[in-house]
Amino acid sequence: MTPQIYSEKRFGVNSDQLSINALSIIEKLQKNGFDAYIVGGGIRDLIKGLQPKDFDIATNCQPNEIRKLFKNSRIIGRRFQLVHITFPNEIVETTTFRSGKDKNDDSMQINDGGRILRDNVWGTQEEDVFRRDFTINSIYYDPFSKEIIDYTAGIKDLKSRVIRFIGDPEQRIKEDPVRILRAIRFAAKLNFKIEKRALPAIKKYKTQIADMPPSRVYEEIAKLFLLGNSENSFNLLKELGILQILFPHTDLAKKKYDTFFTNAFRDTDERYKQNKKLNPGFLFATLLWPKVFEESEIETKINFRKFYQTSANVIRRQQSIAAIPRRFTSFIKDVWMYQIRFNKVGKKSINFAQSLRFRAAYDFLLIRKQLEPELEDSINWWTEFKTANYDKKIKLLKSKRKR
Ligand code: ATP
Ligand code: MG
Repeated sequence: MTPQIYSEKRFGVNSDQLSINALSIIEKLQKNGFDAYIVGGGIRDLIKGLQPKDFDIATNCQPNEIRKLFKNSRIIGRRFQLVHITFPNEIVETTTFRSGKDKNDDSMQINDGGRILRDNVWGTQEEDVFRRDFTINSIYYDPFSKEIIDYTAGIKDLKSRVIRFIGDPEQRIKEDPVRILRAIRFAAKLNFKIEKRALPAIKKYKTQIADMPPSRVYEEIAKLFLLGNSENSFNLLKELGILQILFPHTDLAKKKYDTFFTNAFRDTDERYKQNKKLNPGFLFATLLWPKVFEESEIETKINFRKFYQTSANVIRRQQSIAAIPRRFTSFIKDVWMYQIRFNKVGKKSINFAQSLRFRAAYDFLLIRKQLEPELEDSINWWTEFKTANYDKKIKLLKSKRKR
């Protein structure tokens, strides 16, 4: 197959836009006689005029060889082996071309349902192109020859704004159902449409997402919601009936939660734009809150133990789909438990307002208002209290007691 080859100039792309680290890796690989390219988001986003999140490299150099060439590197992954090359400010993923062909040995494993369990058979660039997920993700850029290489008409799809699977969508989704989440992620990020041809296949196989390793699903959810496109992602997931699969115990798609989530995600996306930190714990605390809220009857009677058990249960059930790392589950529980302390105003409130996770808990209280408008008085009081000096705090506590 002959690819379309474009000059970088055509798209206003040049090597200065790459990270120095990625550029230096490509240079070294090429000096040692290998082919090496920027592939995926690193070139896709540049052509679109966006700042790439990271720069992935594809090469015909094999992992062990890459390891030898770069002291600061390590091989990671079993299912899909690749090399992380580490710099003080960046990790560059360097991936060896795959052939996608089953050699009937350990390096490639496909189960009866067509799912790829292991994909470590090395191949040529031409083969590598066709095992990638979408046409817009299979564009290669050589910053030294200044060429952009496109085998799958990815450039055309970037222009016409389509997420198009390479090959038959049904087969590609069967190979890896997580690709459904990836399609949604890129559609949400770029404001593209997923090709019509893929919709029946998505519908047919979407439940298989639940069989995928929870660690991968967690990573995808985090990317869907923490990279500035959470509102779009949420709407697309809802439209395609995938929210229920990712959050089977929480009916996030209920109409009455619409504004709650819309507000929360607009906030999240705004924070992302302002380069503020986004905590995955806060995200999951928000996503799972309606369930905790409904099950614990937090407003009618404050039963600390029941509330704690509900919280723990909701998190535990979610873990079977998406493995939320422990450091975040403890954060989520704290943020939820602290909601009770907003109701129990007293002397201890002074220490509470200085505690480690108070700020997050307070931000969460603000988000709750959408579902529980009656919180307004409490929110106003705490807003004043948290910034007040000690004397003012005492006064506020006294006035609260009188009421
Ligand atoms: P991002 O901007 O989020 O990094 P990306 O397109 O670079 O987007 P990565 O997850 O970094 O996505 O993966 C790099 C490239 O590897 C993709 O562009 C795609 O070509 C290929 N790829 C990644 N995951 C898969 C998958 N599950 N199936 C097929 N190809 C994949
Ligand atoms: Mg990438």
